[in-house]
Amino acid sequence: MSVINKPNKIVIHCSDSPHRGDTAEDIHLWHKQRGWDGIGYHYVINEDGLVEAGRPEYWIPAHAKGHNENSIAICLIGINSFTEYQFENLALLIENLMLKYNISKKNVVGHYDLDENKTCPNFNVKEFVYTRLEG
Ligand SMILES: [Zn+2]
Repeated sequence: MSVINKPNKIVIHCSDSPHRGDTAEDIHLWHKQRGWDGIGYHYVINEDGLVEAGRPEYWIPAHAKGHNENSIAICLIGINSFTEYQFENLALLIENLMLKYNISKKNVVGHYDLDENKTCPNFNVKEFVYTRLEG
């Protein structure tokens, strides 16, 4: 098993946390409490649209059982309503990552696409990808 992440897929999550203002640092602490090596995501986008760093992209994430290798994990702060700032910067971040790793739109998915027991991130990722992204 490689310890280096070679992404061919981008997976979108939500924090499912009720408190506005949660940050990457909060998620880092929650994931530490689960016994993980810290935050499982590569990026967190807070309600102001700020894109925060989680794990480096080369570090295999911890976010979707059976799909951790070869993926980039992005988490939006919120449960089921997100701000336009978040969506704008999510689109830009995804576009940059698609270009960097030569990932196609069909390989940009929601957590629910990988796990039928999940609804995360609670919006239609496919529709978002095909209506909001360039190219
Ligand atoms: Zn998720």
